[in-house]
Amino acid sequence: MFDALIIGGGAAGLSCALVLGSAKDKAYAKNKHIGIIAHQKTSHLQTALFNNVLGLEPGTTGASILESGKNQLATLYPHVKQINREKVLEISNSDGHFSIRTNKNTYQSKIVVIAVGYTNLISIKGLEAYIEPHPRAAADKERIWLKNTDHLVSENLYVAGALAGWRSQFAITSGSGAHVATDILTLWNDGKHAKVHDKIEV
Ligand SMILES: Cc1cc2nc3c(=O)[nH]c(=O)nc-3n(C[C@H](O)[C@H](O)[C@H](O)COP(=O)(O)OP(=O)(O)OC[C@H]3O[C@@H](n4cnc5c(N)ncnc54)[C@H](O)[C@@H]3O)c2cc1C
Repeated sequence: MFDALIIGGGAAGLSCALVLGSAKDKAYAKNKHIGIIAHQKTSHLQTALFNNVLGLEPGTTGASILESGKNQLATLYPHVKQINREKVLEISNSDGHFSIRTNKNTYQSKIVVIAVGYTNLISIKGLEAYIEPHPRAAADKERIWLKNTDHLVSENLYVAGALAGWRSQFAITSGSGAHVATDILTLWNDGKHAKVHDKIEV
């Protein structure tokens, strides 16, 4: 049983996983079982080229971030389980937890974060009730969002990234993933606001 399982290994999903993983030494996050279904085939990062993102070297490719993001997660926060080459087909909720069925396995999790991008080709069963036209994208592109309030779709079900209704810019979508992570950490911290900052030792 995962405490939190992130679905999607693009900008939002990897950012969410990094922030959740970085809380490993906090008492409230100790022993939390965190995972990410790091499917990346359909990430918008596959073809993106970044010149306008603070902190990224101009000319950085999205494809390199897909690779380096997974490596960063594995190196710094190896307790976050990365599930590769699996695509989620269905999410259902019963007995107070979610079942996440992929093309290969079924996982259980108390909290789920959906970060699969905003294409209307989404084919995950169980999310139909929340799908609406995207509020911040050109209508002719037929983008979608999962209706949410501050990223929360329903109890313990979060959405992050472009699918949360944000415009598709790297800093916004990765920030959305980080935002959801701090909401989950706050929940684990009994509602006391949580964030994770590393600092230089002087
Ligand atoms: C060509 C291009 C150029 C861009 N250039 C810029 C730029 O210059 N500056 C800028 O700021 N932004 C740019 N962007 C936007 C930026 O790449 C996106 O905002 C960002 O990637 C969106 O992040 P996301 O996590 O919401 O979705 P994505 O990065 O698309 O990630 C979604 C993830 O979910 C996975 N997934 C989908 N379905 C499933 C499923 N059923 N099961 C499991 N996983 C699934 C996908 O494989 C993918 O890894 C560009 C985008 C494109 C396409």
